[in-house]
Amino acid sequence: MKTIGLMGGMSWESSLGYYRAINEGVKTRLGGLHSAKIAMYSVDFDPIEQLQHQGDWEGAAEILADAAKRIEAAGADFLLICTNTMHKVAEHVESAIQIPLLHIADATAEVLVNEGVKSVGLLGTAFTMEQDFYKGRLTGNFGLDVLVPNRADREVVHKVIYQELCLGKIESASKGEYLRIIDALSDDGAEAVILGCTEIGMLVSQADTDIRLLDTTAIHAQKAVEWALR
Ligand code: GLU
Repeated sequence: MKTIGLMGGMSWESSLGYYRAINEGVKTRLGGLHSAKIAMYSVDFDPIEQLQHQGDWEGAAEILADAAKRIEAAGADFLLICTNTMHKVAEHVESAIQIPLLHIADATAEVLVNEGVKSVGLLGTAFTMEQDFYKGRLTGNFGLDVLVPNRADREVVHKVIYQELCLGKIESASKGEYLRIIDALSDDGAEAVILGCTEIGMLVSQADTDIRLLDTTAIHAQKAVEWALR
């Protein structure tokens, strides 16, 4: 079994989900008392969140590159950055290490392509929904049409992530808003919706809607198990 490198803390609420999903995945595959080999480094999210909102992605990239080097030195065979948003600096992080990066958008897009989905809705932080690093990869490398909510709804989605989910707050009113926004994406033609923020699965799940949801935390974790055991 290979050692999975996890860069966590963004936020730690979602890193918990990764740790559980990866260990459950290994247990399902190998049985008994098997558990995943993991080298994890968890950052302090507060300064990173400030750099994001100041637009200082270079500063944030340096913190993540340093964390990646520590994870590689701890013996990881490959790396997961446990957040969609910070894949904005994925190339910078990759250039700091020798081990491969398992990109969250690639893992998600592969599922969509396998399911024959062409048009997909995307929920995430404003950075993920509005900038090109994520949508561009889905479109350019996988031929997907990506739909995002309207401006007012993007603000709702973004605020709930930073002011509630990253703080471990689960509010039923916010769940209702997310389900309304997911319905609107479906009405606009989305065949499925990417939960493109690693905390959203704490708020909404497939049991809440008939619209196909792709939980990036679960998909990323499952792909990590495949890489570890292949
Ligand atoms: N975990 C979130 C994501 O997947 C947001 C936190 C962050 O900005 O990294 O995008």
